[in-house]
Order: sequence, then C-alpha cells, then structure tokens
Amino acid sequence: ATMPPLLSAIANAGRHGVLVKSAVVMERLGQVDAVALDKTGTLTEGTPRVTDIRPSAGSGLGEEELLGLAATAEHPSEHPLARAVVDAARARGLTIPSAEDFDSAPGTGVRATVRGKTVAVGSPARLLDGRAHPAAETAAHLETEGRTAVLVTLDGTPVGVLGIADRLREDAAGTVTALTALTGTAPVLVTGDNPRAAARLAEEVGITEVRAGLLPQDKVTAVRELEQAGRKVLVVGDGVNDAPALAAAHTGIAMGRAGSDLALETADAVIVRDELATIPAVVALSRRARRLVV
Ligand code: ADP
Ligand code: MG
Repeated sequence: ATMPPLLSAIANAGRHGVLVKSAVVMERLGQVDAVALDKTGTLTEGTPRVTDIRPSAGSGLGEEELLGLAATAEHPSEHPLARAVVDAARARGLTIPSAEDFDSAPGTGVRATVRGKTVAVGSPARLLDGRAHPAAETAAHLETEGRTAVLVTLDGTPVGVLGIADRLREDAAGTVTALTALTGTAPVLVTGDNPRAAARLAEEVGITEVRAGLLPQDKVTAVRELEQAGRKVLVVGDGVNDAPALAAAHTGIAMGRAGSDLALETADAVIVRDELATIPAVVALSRRARRLVV
C-alpha cells in the first residue's frame, strides 16, 4: 500500500530530525499562523557560560566563595544556567558540597540550605522585588551588555551577582526570516530572562515583539492573547518553564538535545537534531501533505 500523505510526512520530518508524535500533530503544524519562541536554549545554544563573578562589597566573599556557594545551590537543577554555574565552579577546581532542602521555582531560580544558611540564586528582579541594593546596579549593567545576571542571596541578603552569556544559534536569524515568510508575521519572543538582554537578542535576529520577565503562566497568557486574536500559535521552547505554554498552544515543539524531560513530554513534536531551521521545514511538509489529503 502507498503510505497516507500525513504518515509519509512524519517519516520525512524524521529524516529532517524532527520527531512528530502523531498524524494529528503533523496535520496541525501546517495550520499555524503565529510563532512564539523562547530565548534561552531555544534561540540560543543553551550552553551558557559564566563570564563575570561579582561579589558585593561588604559581603566578605571572594569570587571563588561566591561561585562555590551558587554552585552548591544550583547543583540539583537541570536549568542551563545552573549547569553553567556548576561547570564554572568545577573548572576552578572547587568542590561542591551537597545542599539540603533544594527547591526550584521555574522562571525565578533555586533555593537550598547550605551549612545552615539559605542560599538563593536567580532572577535579580524577582529576588530583590523592588528593593534597592548595589547588586541591582551590577546586574543591570551586565544585562545591558546582553548577559543574563543572576543574583545570589544568603539568608535573604544579596552577596553578589554572576554574569552568564549564551551564544545565539547560527540558524536563529535565518529561521526567524523563514517563519516570518511562512506565517506572514514575525515570531514573538517570550522569555523569562530580563528585558534588556531579551531586547538585545531580538534585535540581532529580527524580532520586534518581545515579552520578557515572564513566569511560566505569563507565557500561557501571551499564547492565549494571540489565540484570542484568532491565531493558531506554534510555541517552541526547551525548559520546564515552557511546558505550560507548550501544552496551551495550538502546537508545541520542544528542543530535544538540552530540553527538559517535562518539555519533551508535553510538546507535540521534538527537534532531535538540534537545528532550528527544521521548524519551517516541518511546517512546509505539513502544508504539502494537507494539500494531498484534502
Ligand atoms: P527563558 O524563558 O529565557 O528560557 P527561564 O524562564 O528558564 O528563561 O529563566 C528566566 C530567569 O529565571 C533567568 O533569566 C534567571 O534569572 C532565572 N532562573 C531560572 N532558573 C534559574 C536557575 N536554575 N538559576 C538561576 N536563575 C534561574
Ligand atoms: Mg528556555
């Protein structure tokens, strides 16, 4: 028997390096007319590196102490920023003691007890929540340079900031252009990262609409707004923080290589080969198959 067009398209998508989970998904991919892209791990490579270590004056901490403290709290986390911090600590030969009472808040950061003290590492905006502190200025400065700044607090007091940088994927700008041509509108950037770094990256890839500082539920709201305006939204993301939006969207695609298990399970399709350019390719495949079906 000749294979039905949607099943051939699934096989074809597989050859492109995209795992499409069902014929229904294969069909829906061709209907999308708006795209929401996550930043960290999606438009960027997802292997960020620590570039700056800035203990706060008066914290009494040196660079290595600050990094070690952060790494201890980040150790259990699967977030790309956590891996960057742990790798930087290991690269300096620091031993990472195990932490207790680990807890993580998607889109915000992590918290753990280290030698009886509570260490939090995460978004300066969320951890400071409007409080003035010199660390906020250090963070803002790093963010203006396009970096992600994470604040480290000890029993609630800021003790320093780490600057973390990730590279843009080679095919990010080309993919944005291709998706704009396919859907008739430029993709929207939806990110939990800070507005300064987000705006800078958006400009580099040709995105004009940026929603930054979003919690996982805010990403869902952004998707719902587009869908209420009559759009069929494709969400592309990698993180635990993207899972609710991947589930809420008309169609969700997860980045496979460094994506979190939750994102991979929630998404309708998974990019296995780690190339963004496969996204417009599978949308086009779906449209072709749909023409053969009807
Ligand atoms: P994105 O939407 O760009 O993929 P996330 O929602 O995963 O980003 O993270 C948003 C922000 O939350 C980060 O920029 C950081 O400030 C903070 N954050 C989340 N997880 C962590 C973590 N494990 N360590 C430090 N900061 C974190
Ligand atoms: Mg992400």
